[in-house]
Amino acid sequence: MSLQNKVAIITGGASGIGFAIARRFVSDGAKVVIADIDDGRGEEAEKELKDIGEAVYVTCDVAEKLDVRNLVASALDAFGDVDILVNNAGIVAGADLLELDEADFDRVLAVNLKGAFLCLQAVARHLVDRVKAGGEPGTIINISSINAVLAIADQVPYSISKGGVNQLTRVSALALAPYGIRVNAIGPGSISTDMLATVLEDEQARDKVLSRTPLGRVGEPREIAAVAAFLASDGASYVTGQTIYADGGRLPL
Ligand code: NAD
Repeated sequence: MSLQNKVAIITGGASGIGFAIARRFVSDGAKVVIADIDDGRGEEAEKELKDIGEAVYVTCDVAEKLDVRNLVASALDAFGDVDILVNNAGIVAGADLLELDEADFDRVLAVNLKGAFLCLQAVARHLVDRVKAGGEPGTIINISSINAVLAIADQVPYSISKGGVNQLTRVSALALAPYGIRVNAIGPGSISTDMLATVLEDEQARDKVLSRTPLGRVGEPREIAAVAAFLASDGASYVTGQTIYADGGRLPL
């Protein structure tokens, strides 16, 4: 129960990695606010989490500043405080560089990078005010990807957005360190979620992923949630500005 009574906002928390993080945090004693644009899955997620602890679902497109403002206000309304932000919402738009649509480029950057910035800034403002008033610092976790450092030809905006997320992590860790607020990132490898479904359903594509993964299997969302639980806990009290890769050994060591 290392997150006992902490309040955590998890964006994109209605499914996949975000939901696994939400479930792990609730199991560890946290109160969780799930932010997503998929109301059906969000409400289902809230219901499931309420069987084991405290959770609310809030509709929020992280790329929209007013939605983000409403998200933080809703978290404060529901639980009176915010201690942890997990910037997890993310999308992909696979296309050859020469065919890539401008609107797809803009949307991926808006959700994965600007959305992470908007949420981080809104929660950081709350945490800084709290520290100035003598309260606890809190912590922020950004979900990046191995694609932040690997170049994959048909994932142009995704790779750029995740490279940006790593730098967002570093610059905001530096800016918030004077307040004791830690900012870290997790870089998952290939994890079994909807986002990877088309790859995993295609035998050739799946074999290619597995042949490049030293542990020889895809990861489970709960294995990313375990890293998030560590980074959110006091066990990581001297860790900030880092991206931890949970990728089955995919990145060259
Ligand atoms: P997923 O598609 O299962 O879940 C993403 C969630 O984000 C969905 O619930 C979706 O509705 C929500 N979302 C999308 N746009 C949103 C928006 N504008 N505002 C709020 N919510 C929004 O994907 P996942 O695999 O669980 O991905 C979660 C994160 O992990 C993403 O940032 C992704 O880039 C990252 N990641 C995933 C993998 C993988 O292999 N699955 C690998 C590396 C990184």
